[in-house]
Amino acid sequence: MIEIYLATSNKEKIKEVDKIIEKLNIKQKVKLCSIFDEIKSEFVYVDENGETYTENSVIKAWRYGKIINKPVVSDDSGLNIVALDGFPGVHSSRFMFNSPYRVRMKTILSMMQNIEDRKAYFACAATYFDIENNILISLEERVYGTIAYDIRGSNGFGYDPIFIPKGYNQTFGELPTEIKNEISHRGKAFNRLFTHLISSSLI
Ligand code: IMP
Repeated sequence: MIEIYLATSNKEKIKEVDKIIEKLNIKQKVKLCSIFDEIKSEFVYVDENGETYTENSVIKAWRYGKIINKPVVSDDSGLNIVALDGFPGVHSSRFMFNSPYRVRMKTILSMMQNIEDRKAYFACAATYFDIENNILISLEERVYGTIAYDIRGSNGFGYDPIFIPKGYNQTFGELPTEIKNEISHRGKAFNRLFTHLISSSLI
């Protein structure tokens, strides 16, 4: 059994990645742990100052991997709205940081009020860093869709209630977690990452 630490304090992300591991049938091989079980503090500051999801994901994996000296997986993700030049993008979690997501989503919907082009995508860069064996693997996946006209549903987290994935009528906030995991940016990124780790006999 290999212990892999997930570099996030977001419990919803941990749940999503745990379900992916379950579906890949590697629960006996991999014990997914939150990095903060090891560091015992949620306040280790990592400056996510990269300009891309990949940069930020690598920064997180590298920083935490060096602190705990064990294999780490990290992700960096965000919502990109085409008509707003990719906003909020890599700043998705920092945008109106002190406001609840309902307020942030309302603000985005008002910014989109007269905009017909609703195209948007979620992107996720997932990284595996094994400091002992000098291995760093990072990849990015996306899910394309549109921005809804109102806030719908309470599943998932973040901007889920205003994002309608292509091919569906419901938002990620309305769709069951299993469907989100199958088609989402994070679902696809971690699926590909873990599949690669398995086929390379790294786990
Ligand atoms: P990170 O933790 O730095 O990767 O921040 C990602 C931010 O992007 C989250 O806090 C959300 O605001 C947004 N985001 C990323 N993935 C999702 C998702 O699956 N659903 C909804 N919002 C997401």
